[in-house]
Amino acid sequence: AGAIVVMSADAKLCMIIGDPVAHSLSPAIHNAAYKALGLGGRFRYEARQVKPDQLADFMNEVRDKDIRGVSCTAPHKVAIMGHMDDIDPVAARIGAVNTVVNDKGRLKGYNTDWLGIMRSLEKITPLKGKRVALLGAGGAARSIAYGLVEKGAKVTVYNRTVEKARALAEEFGADSAGLDEVAAVKQADIIVNATSAGMSPNDGATPLPEEYISGGQIVFDSIYVPYETRLLKEAAARGARVIHGTEMLLAQAVEQFRLYTGYDAPEDVMRRALEEALGI
Ligand code: NAP
Repeated sequence: AGAIVVMSADAKLCMIIGDPVAHSLSPAIHNAAYKALGLGGRFRYEARQVKPDQLADFMNEVRDKDIRGVSCTAPHKVAIMGHMDDIDPVAARIGAVNTVVNDKGRLKGYNTDWLGIMRSLEKITPLKGKRVALLGAGGAARSIAYGLVEKGAKVTVYNRTVEKARALAEEFGADSAGLDEVAAVKQADIIVNATSAGMSPNDGATPLPEEYISGGQIVFDSIYVPYETRLLKEAAARGARVIHGTEMLLAQAVEQFRLYTGYDAPEDVMRRALEEALGI
């Protein structure tokens, strides 16, 4: 991530792929931003369901049709790396690509997920030296663990399957623990949920008993459907400062927009489009 990308003149279509992908909010966010900057005639953003066994054909189509950008969500973030000409060093380190830029037939993979959460956290607190409890050890947790350690936070990874927590922690320089030791979360400055516990339709679930949350803490949930998860509701009721999963989604889209178009993203427009799509 970093340098401004030069647009190729004829490549204008950007897409999000996933399986499933129908509920993606990305088309609404990106198209609203194109429109606001007067780029509506030059850029268009669509969602396409791509199953794992269709990925290779789809990537050929990206090259053949000169599709400018591909955002990818589960289950493609690792597999898509095999189709790149070049991978940004940070994405390589994280081991996942969520953003592909096609520069005249040359495909480069980036990871903007980690920036999403770092930007939203750093808006309200410096991360250096902070004790962070990271719940989960899946794909989202990887990007988050990388970013937090990079920013100098002291991270402990908690996961239902403790071996996965251990492996992730070792890889990125964090500590790890099982969910049976989750009481230690009381000592954390920041709690980040990167599990899917609490995600719709399991709105009643939560990854953390509320008694471990207190007033001085910041609680971030990477889940954004529902907008108000049980974790965030309980955290707010106990006086903690909460950050919604939409902030992560928005911030990674802002970075993607810049990579695809070469322009700074109209963040407020994108936030409104996201809130409208979610009916907030
Ligand atoms: P994933 O790779 O499938 O990982 C799922 C994680 O959740 C694993 O650590 C799993 O533990 C844990 N888990 C699942 N059900 C659980 C339960 N009932 N109790 C405790 N732990 C449970 O998924 P992912 O791609 O990392 O996504 C995780 C969450 O992040 C999802 O809710 C997703 O929507 C969200 N996300 C948000 C954004 C954003 O922009 N806001 C971006 C990416 C992802 P085990 O290892 O024990 O199975």
